This record gives sequence, structure tokens and C-alpha cells, in this order.
Amino acid sequence: MKKSEFEKWSARAAQWSAQYMDTLDERPVRAQTQPGDIAKLIDSVPPESGESMETILKDFENIIPDGMTHWQHPRFFAYFQSNAAPASMIAEQLATTLAAQCMLWQTSPAATELETCMIDWLRQSVGLSKEFKGVLQDTASSATLSAILTMRERALNWRGNVEGLSGQPRVRIYASSRTHSSIDKAMWIAGLGQDNLVKIPTDEHFALDEHALEKAIADDRAAGYLPAGIVICVGGTSMGATDRVANVCKIAKQENLYTHVDAAWAGSAMICEELRTLWDGVDEADSLVLNPHKWLGASMECSAHFIKDPTVLVKTLAIQPEYLKTHGQDGLVNYSEWGIQLGRRFRALKLWFLIRAYGLDGLRTRIRHHIQWSEKLCKRLRSEPDFEIVTDPILSLFTFRYVPQHIADHDELNLQLVNAINDDGRIYLTQSEHDGKRVIRFVSGQFDMEEKDVDIAFEAITDIAKLVLPTT
Ligand SMILES: *Cc1c(COP(=O)(O)O)cnc(C)c1O
Repeated sequence: MKKSEFEKWSARAAQWSAQYMDTLDERPVRAQTQPGDIAKLIDSVPPESGESMETILKDFENIIPDGMTHWQHPRFFAYFQSNAAPASMIAEQLATTLAAQCMLWQTSPAATELETCMIDWLRQSVGLSKEFKGVLQDTASSATLSAILTMRERALNWRGNVEGLSGQPRVRIYASSRTHSSIDKAMWIAGLGQDNLVKIPTDEHFALDEHALEKAIADDRAAGYLPAGIVICVGGTSMGATDRVANVCKIAKQENLYTHVDAAWAGSAMICEELRTLWDGVDEADSLVLNPHKWLGASMECSAHFIKDPTVLVKTLAIQPEYLKTHGQDGLVNYSEWGIQLGRRFRALKLWFLIRAYGLDGLRTRIRHHIQWSEKLCKRLRSEPDFEIVTDPILSLFTFRYVPQHIADHDELNLQLVNAINDDGRIYLTQSEHDGKRVIRFVSGQFDMEEKDVDIAFEAITDIAKLVLPTT
């Protein structure tokens, strides 16, 4: 492609993107397609000769957007938001242009150094202690896997990587029953096995029960297991469950266990100082993950993994042990040794653009609004006769249930309601389960949403609730 053509087509793509953002709220939030609808429209064999960009872009416009769930839609209230603030999109385009491969300092010095700086910007922004260093991983799943591998190797005195796990004591990891499935998956991939993830019950505040944790560790030691680490939950996915970080870290210190805090979603909100009570004591943790690609506005994939002592992580994951000898001494960092991947994208650029374009204050204002607007909706639903709030807002997340009295099966009714809401298209919600009951989750956090969007959510929920009510 000639330079002039590149200019033309990338301008066309930018034009399309601007128009897409501008008209997003006219689209249904969740894709309204059936499985297989899109695949049917794609040629079953690849072309032998090149096609024109005109044709390719036209097919993109005709086929792809209608088959997408629109994560940047201002009324996306499902899962946790995955934002792509415009400034971060522009940075992504430039990072792709540079085709940066950021495995070693040498392969992309500016990317490596910017990554170190951006991790420190983030550290300051969320108020973590100076002791934390860090790395940008693709996802929280990878950061958590890295942390669990570190727990394993630290407990086995780095024999696991060399000898394998057979013949070693059984390594045990502890987490509350409300932690994310990425912890279970990390156990599988780390070769530790699901059975060695000890799920500790939670109390009436949905926090890990510390007495049960202490007992589980003592029982495991007595039975010959090898306790290695604790994953601490701050802002769980289903309803925002949060452990008492300070208490759990204290137990971990007494037991010489490594701690990893999963604050994938809630961590971004810690840029607001008044919210930091949520993770009181966090400076005592060894490792922590938060996803700027969720609430903060960096586009996928951008997960900040903070580590107190990178040496244990690097000792676990660096494939060239001789490099360790100079690690940290000459100021050279090779970030591929801090995670799973060898080849790595240039993720720091989008954070640099994002934080500078909006400023911490601009980002804080958004998060404070999201929380305030969720609380407003929660209050309105609470005062509706046929609705109950099941769990109160934790940051911008709460769960509710539709409970008209004359209906016997509320679980079924709530499933019908959430499906009907998503078919309607004005808003997008997901369901969850709480204490054996089906509930509907609401979480706000789309980067450019406005107060009117939660008002529309209220109308959509209450209108559609009337429609799904059986008439008899
Ligand atoms: C989203 C989320 C994850 C998984 O994050 P990925 O970046 O998609 O791997 C893990 N834990 C919590 C609490 C989350 O909210």
C-alpha cells in the first residue's frame, strides 16, 4: 500500500470510528444476532488475490458492527465495563504503527521506560506505597497466574520449575468463596489443581472469614500440605465482595504466605482518595492487580500488576536465570521476564495518552459520577413496590430482584426479565446468583455515560417488568 493510500484509508477508518461513537446510543447495546448469522456472511475460503480496501471496508461496515455487543455504549451496564477512551484509541493506533515488540529493554527502550513510568504514575494515582514496582500485563487473568506461579515456586523453593510437581508436597492457595474464576483457572494452569484452592467461606459482609482462614491453614499444615499464598478479593465480580485486606495480610505475614490482591475492577476507583477505605491495609500485600482497561478508560488489554519484590516474580518467570545477576542493578528491565508472554505489546502508550488527555481529576469526576448515578438508580428501584435491592451498592455495583407478590417462581421471572431487557436493546444487564437466588446486576462505568442514561435504565427496567408479568 502506497503512503497516499494509507493516509486515505486510515482517514476513512477514523471517520467511520468518529461517526460510530457519535451514533452509538442509537444502536441496541447487546448484539441482536443469532449464533452463526455472521459466519454465514464470511467467504468460506480465503481469496487468492488481493481485494480493494474499498470492498474490505464496505464489508466491515455491513457485517461487523451489527454483530457486535457495543461495549462503549453509554447504557452498557453488564459485566464490568471495558472502556476505550478516544485518547487511548489514538495511542493504540500509533503503537500498532510502531509495531513495537516490547519483550526486552533493548527491543523497545522507550516502551520499556514509559511502562516503568506509567506503572509509577498509576501507583501514585491509586495511593499505593513507593515500595511497589510493576508491569503491564494483558489481563488480570495473566497477572493472577503469574502471582500464583510465584506463590508456588516461592513455597517450593524454586524446585517446581525444574523438577515438576510430582513428588513435591501439595501446594495450597486460599481465597474467599467469592473470588473470580480466573483464580480457579490459574490453579489449573499452574498445575496445582482445583482441589488445592481452598475456598474460605465469607461472613455477613461478604468478606473472607479470617477465623476460618486460620483454621484451614492450620489443618492443612497438620495434614502435610504446603500453604503457599492467599488471593485477596477487592470488588468481586458478582456483587463487589471485598475482604478485609489488612486482617488477611496480617495472617499471611504470620504464616509466611504470599498475598495477591485481585482488584481488577475496583482498583481503578482508588484514584479517588475517599474510596480507599475499601482496600485499607493494601500496602502490606505482596502483589496486586487492577485493570485500567475496565473502569479507567484504557482500551483492552491493559492490566497493571504491582509487585513489592519483583525478584521473586522474575526468579519464577525469567527463562534466562543468568540475567538475574544484573537484575535491578544496571537499571535495565526486561518486562518479558515479569509475565507469561515473551512478545509483548506497547501498552504504556495508551495510559500515557489517557492520563494526560483527561487528567486524574477528569478521570475521578467520571468515577464519582458513575457511583452517584448507580446509587440514584438503586434508590429509585428500592422505592418501587415490586423490586427489592438484594445487595447495596459497592462502588457502582448493586444487585436487585423483581419480586411481585403473586408470582411463585421469582428466579424464572427474573431470568425472563433480564432476557427481555437485553432483547429490547435500550440497556444491557447481566444476571448473577446471590445466596441461591437469581439476581440482576447493575454496574455503571462507561467512560462517557451521562445521568440520563441511568434514568433510561430505570424506565427500561420498570416498563419491561410490567410486560413480562404473567397476566393470570
Ligand atoms: C474482570 C475481572 C477479572 C478478570 O479480568 P481479565 O482482565 O479479563 O482477565 C478478575 N477478577 C476480577 C475481580 C474481575 O473483575
